[in-house]
Amino acid sequence: MADVTKFLAGIENFQQQHFGENSELARNLTKGQKPQALLIGCCDSRVDPALVTDSSQGDLFILRNIANLVPPYLNNDDYHGVSSAIEYAVCHLEVSDIIVFGHSNCGGIGALMKSAQGEETGEFIGKWVSIAASARDKVLQEMPDETTQNQARACEKESILVSLRNLMTFPWVRERVAQGQLSLHGWYYNLSTGQLRHYNPLTETFEILVKGYSPAQPEKQGSQSAT
Ligand SMILES: [Zn+2]
Repeated sequence: MADVTKFLAGIENFQQQHFGENSELARNLTKGQKPQALLIGCCDSRVDPALVTDSSQGDLFILRNIANLVPPYLNNDDYHGVSSAIEYAVCHLEVSDIIVFGHSNCGGIGALMKSAQGEETGEFIGKWVSIAASARDKVLQEMPDETTQNQARACEKESILVSLRNLMTFPWVRERVAQGQLSLHGWYYNLSTGQLRHYNPLTETFEILVKGYSPAQPEKQGSQSAT
């Protein structure tokens, strides 16, 4: 069995930092939750939404799945894990924002791209990521000569738009957006630099919201620093 001791030590650390007689946060959290946003992120271990947004407990209602996808609204007898989380966040917690949080180097989107070549994508994964099949097809049609890497990066962004459109198929999401009570955001996180882009529907592009990390360049001797 793998050693899970480090997780236990983590829980002890967390306890020491956040609990105790004087912890106002712990007291408030037991009263209930009032997160501002629902964040729909990927399961990828490298893009933990609470960590990369430096959020506290209670700030974000987080839904994670393979490739941060939202299926279209479908009212039938199936088990709807994603839709029930969206319903709880929107109708009960009344969040003011929904963030679809895509990321670079996404394995789920990689599987979606491979499925176009007829490659095996697992028992459940292939069907799940096919939610964004229209994004993949658009990318392959518009940039057939690009490298597979660039096609995948483009599909990661395009699939965020599919999820945003699918969110609008939920009647109670559509209603609240129309009334100005709810805002939808498409964010794209570069996991190698920490750069964050957001989709601007006016320019129809992903624009930089937070610059990526770049190591400081050593200053050249005698050079003037730019103002
Ligand atoms: Zn991913």
